[in-house]
Amino acid sequence: MTGLLDLVRDDLRDFAGYRSARSEKLEGDAWLNANEAAVANVADADGACRRYPDPQPTELREKLATLYGCRPGQLILGRGSDEAIDLLVRAFCAPGDGAIVIAPPTFGMYAVCARLHGVRVVEVPLDDRGESFGCDFDAVGNGAEANGARLVFLCSPGNPTGAALPSGDVAALARRLDGRAIVVVDEAYQEFASTPSATALIGTHPNIVVLRTLSKAHALAGLRLGVAIGDESLIAVLRRCQAPYPLPTPCVELAMRAIDDTALPATESAVAAVVDERARLAAALSNLACVRSVYRSDANFILVRFTDADAAFASLLAAGVVVRDVRAQRGLGDSLRITVGTPAQNDRVLAALRGAR
Ligand code: PMP
Repeated sequence: MTGLLDLVRDDLRDFAGYRSARSEKLEGDAWLNANEAAVANVADADGACRRYPDPQPTELREKLATLYGCRPGQLILGRGSDEAIDLLVRAFCAPGDGAIVIAPPTFGMYAVCARLHGVRVVEVPLDDRGESFGCDFDAVGNGAEANGARLVFLCSPGNPTGAALPSGDVAALARRLDGRAIVVVDEAYQEFASTPSATALIGTHPNIVVLRTLSKAHALAGLRLGVAIGDESLIAVLRRCQAPYPLPTPCVELAMRAIDDTALPATESAVAAVVDERARLAAALSNLACVRSVYRSDANFILVRFTDADAAFASLLAAGVVVRDVRAQRGLGDSLRITVGTPAQNDRVLAALRGAR
């Protein structure tokens, strides 16, 4: 096979990135190498923020590696999975020349990052199979090959569709594109899914990169912490492309508490409650006169087709319920995406829609 690193942008192959003062492996007890203040800010009581943070804190990486079933070296931490998407595009696609493949309707940031970077976006639409969306993996492979795309973005479970992709098909696509492209599997909603994570495939399919986040199941969207998991050599490339200190010290401290053994069981039961509510909400929605169909979901939201989506959106808004308007997306002119809320919020959704046309 072509070396994995041959997929890196040609002009970045021997790019060393920025060497921050923090990355020098030196010993000492008077740190005068980073132009930090000698005395802490009065608002920073314990002085935790006086010094620049570790770019990739070892303990947090180890804990996240255990959580996601990988080795610490296979993981890069960043500002949400949004940052990982941007890093991938910048590291693997040449501006003005590169291409990515996406399968719409899908998460908007893949195309946004590509366009910002001057990279072409090749669209291979998902198939609407009525109760769920499926991916035409042959067409995605063809699209990647025909356009020389170095990155394919798959979203599983998909946003806004809620559909998880079969990992056997993801693995087959990665094998087909071996030496040609990286298959990114965005698993932002994986904790709500009944299907296995693609992380287990990385060992045998080194051109797979998986994205995970603390924003959804862990209820920490405001923390901005996401990870990319992949072959050590690819992760090392992403680290060279990342800004020097991506993780603020207070975020690292909260993340450590959020994924320790005392907090994780609470997260697991919160996820289980969302999965239960998802089933209740989906069943109740499908009995409403204004609902045309409800897609099966493996995420913490439900995609719903309405007989009149404008009226449904207006009824919800009139009741103070804000849902995601996805009507401008390909093939979703009559659809809205509804996040599973608390039981009381979900009841408000149902009450508002009972009055809709
Ligand atoms: N991927 C998908 C599929 C998403 O829906 C989102 C957030 N809406 C993200 C990535 C970005 O998440 P993060 O908060 O980790 O940046």
